Order: sequence, then structure tokens, then C-alpha cells
Amino acid sequence: MSEIVIATGNLGKLAEFREMLAPLDIKIYPQSDFQAGSVEETGLTFVENAILKARHASRVSGLPAVADDSGLEVDFLKNAPGIYSARFAGETATDYDNIEKLLKELSGVPTEKRSARFQCLLVYLRHADDPTPLICQGTWEGYILEEPRGEHGFGYDPVFFVPESHCASAELEPKEKNRLSHRAKAMTLLLKKLEEQKTQ
Ligand code: IMP
Repeated sequence: MSEIVIATGNLGKLAEFREMLAPLDIKIYPQSDFQAGSVEETGLTFVENAILKARHASRVSGLPAVADDSGLEVDFLKNAPGIYSARFAGETATDYDNIEKLLKELSGVPTEKRSARFQCLLVYLRHADDPTPLICQGTWEGYILEEPRGEHGFGYDPVFFVPESHCASAELEPKEKNRLSHRAKAMTLLLKKLEEQKTQ
């Protein structure tokens, strides 16, 4: 693998992927380089949506593709927003809108009932019709804060409290988030799988 397309239009995710893959000698193309547009996320699971995204990006670029489908699961909300995290407050919702809705739904809920996790399902397709995608999962456990904190990251980072670091995910330096996050864990597993395949 010397070139890949990253199947996301989310600039926050793209920046994280770039940093995680920086130590490798791979040329990374965002899908926007191919006017890929976004694919409809019609799956009912993270893994289905990740495959849809990777297949689309690989098809339009002709390159191997990496895609993640990720989201936040809040125990009190029976694992919502889950696969609908990006559009929790509506199809055109901003991160701010989604956070506002989340905090409203958790209003008055005590800390011990605000447990949550980020999920990341990462898919690697060698080509658009690859019948054996590599699939890796990472999770990151935490709590939902009552107020947003921090300036880094994207999405729900300002309200996701990271117990191991005693701060919000948006207060972590990008390098630190990329060491601890759901996406980092999934990427570590994917790179291991790719390395194993090279030696088989
Ligand atoms: P996707 O593009 O459908 O995978 O959308 C994932 C959504 O989940 C994002 O738009 C965010 O709202 C949320 N999300 C996923 N990963 C993260 C993260 O690392 N930090 C904050 N929010 C995230």
C-alpha cells in the first residue's frame, strides 16, 4: 500500500487520520480530491456504513480506501445517538447543534448515569469490489459533561470526559487524543493486520 484514499468529508477526522498515518510512507488523498461527494449512510450498523463509504471512495478514486464510521453511545439514552451521531439534531446539524441536543436530553441526569463511549469501525478495502474488507473496531469509554470544555477536536469532544486524562477530549492535545481515542485504537489494529498480511 503506497497510496490510499481517506473516505471522509469530515475535516476533523481527516486531520486525525493524517497524523496517525504520518509515520508510514503512504501518500494520502482525501476523497475531496476526486470530487467524491458523500455517500448516503443507509446502513443500520457502523460497519455497514463504513463499508459503503470506503467502497464509494475506492470506486471514484481507483485507490485502496480507508473509511471509518464512528459515533457516540450514551448509556442513559439507550446507546443513542450511535450511528446517527453526525445528524442527531437533524440532517444539517452542526456539532454545536448536536451537543446542545445531547445536553438537553441529559439535563438533570447525575454524573454516574452519564456514562458513554465512542465507537469507531474502521474498514480497509484494497479495491472497490474487495470481498474481504479488513475491519477493526476501537472504543473509548468516558462520561458526558454538563458543559462543553476545550478547543481541540471536533464533534462531541467538548462534552466527552476522558477519565484516564481527567479532562474533556477537546482539552487533549491532538497527539494525545490520537494516542487514546477509539479511532487510534482501531487504526493500531488495522496497521497490525496490514503488517501481518505483508509477511504472509
Ligand atoms: P460519521 O461521519 O457518520 O462517522 O459521523 C461520526 C460522528 O460521530 C461525528 O460527526 C461526530 O459527531 C461523532 N464522532 C465520531 N468520532 C468522534 C470523535 O473522535 N470526537 C467527537 N465526535 C466524534
